Amino acid sequence: MGGILTDLFRYFEAYSLPLNLLILLYIMSGRSSHLFVVLLLLFFLGGSVSCHAPRYADHAPTLFFPSLDGLDLPSVSAFNFYIPEPEWKQIDLTPRKRITLDFTYYDTHHVRSQDCLLFCNSDTEIIDLAFLSENDYAFPLPGAKVISPYAGKRSSHSGVDLKTCAHDTIVAAFDGVVRMAQPYAAYGNVVVVRHYNGLETVYSHNSKNLVKSGDVVKAGYPVALTGRTGRATTEHLHFETRINGQHFNPSLVFDFTTKTLQPQNLLCIKKGSSIVVKAVDPFPFHLVFR
Ligand SMILES: [Zn+2]
Repeated sequence: MGGILTDLFRYFEAYSLPLNLLILLYIMSGRSSHLFVVLLLLFFLGGSVSCHAPRYADHAPTLFFPSLDGLDLPSVSAFNFYIPEPEWKQIDLTPRKRITLDFTYYDTHHVRSQDCLLFCNSDTEIIDLAFLSENDYAFPLPGAKVISPYAGKRSSHSGVDLKTCAHDTIVAAFDGVVRMAQPYAAYGNVVVVRHYNGLETVYSHNSKNLVKSGDVVKAGYPVALTGRTGRATTEHLHFETRINGQHFNPSLVFDFTTKTLQPQNLLCIKKGSSIVVKAVDPFPFHLVFR
């Protein structure tokens, strides 16, 4: 019995109940009719007292630290830390890239044309769309709806088909220079613009081209009117996005629902003769770990 009381005493002591309260508790608990009152007192007083009274020090954990007094420790520089040096690579994130603007005969007569200044020092190019302001881009056919997506049911579809009405005005997506403007096989009347950001855009099936090769265009500048020349069953714009001659999904550049630019970077990686284009979050710095 004494052992149980001692344990109880230690329990209440741990909860910082004053000793006189414990004695009162012990006396009153002799009458069963007062037991409920005792429990209530224990609940309220125990809580309030323990909030204010300091805990006993011997219930707190004790930590031991070795003393460094008198020890002859070497300086930090004497340690030979080995931290592997990662390979860092500078990638140009400016909106303008070094691109070829003196076009060859081949450049002005073929939709697919490579630019030898892209991927010449590296297998990676970053197109920073998040860098561009509202004046730096334009949706190529304002008010249009998508009637056939990239790839889609026709896996060979190299662009996205946009429709408004016949002879509607098609505008340049970004600043750049017209590389090609002429009829070309199934494309019909086609305009290809090489942009300073490294991309190329293609506008085809036009009823009329409004620009010629070598023309400098700004984003939003009219380049053609919608039509159904070449292999087309209705008046529409077949719009392509390309890098170094290879087409990729225009949805990586434009949100065709909101008709706005995607606020992201395009990571373009050359693998053999093809280029993989991925959307990545804008980088917070100008160095990319390879
Ligand atoms: Zn198409």
